[in-house]
Amino acid sequence: MKSTGIVRKVDQLGRIVIPKELRRTLQIVEIEDSLEIFVENDTIVLKKYNENADIYGVIRRVDQLGRIVLPIELRRKLDILVEKDSLEIYVEGNSVILKKYEPACIFCGNARNVFIFKGKNICPSCIKEIQEIK
Ligand SMILES: [Zn+2]
Repeated sequence: MKSTGIVRKVDQLGRIVIPKELRRTLQIVEIEDSLEIFVENDTIVLKKYNENADIYGVIRRVDQLGRIVLPIELRRKLDILVEKDSLEIYVEGNSVILKKYEPACIFCGNARNVFIFKGKNICPSCIKEIQEIK
């Protein structure tokens, strides 16, 4: 999985923008093309719909702004909340992979209940440890 370093927020209608560069690379045309969407482990896989191939997922059309609606069942499954969660976007072969973006603590790598302090992510137990430094 090749990270693009791109993170996008899921909007209030459960849509996510597929970055223009990726649409160009994978030759995904707005309005014209549809994508097959399915869950694989903890990721969402987007594949350009090919009518000759076997279909495993849900088919959704790419809108004029390059967005795709992520089906609600799938968002529920991965615990993705609209207008709150962001997804990290990867490329693998000719698929776009979306993974829930969970910022990790810069000290220990823990991704739970992370706070942002002066632009850095820090977890509660590291905050506690820092408080104990005298
Ligand atoms: Zn930590």
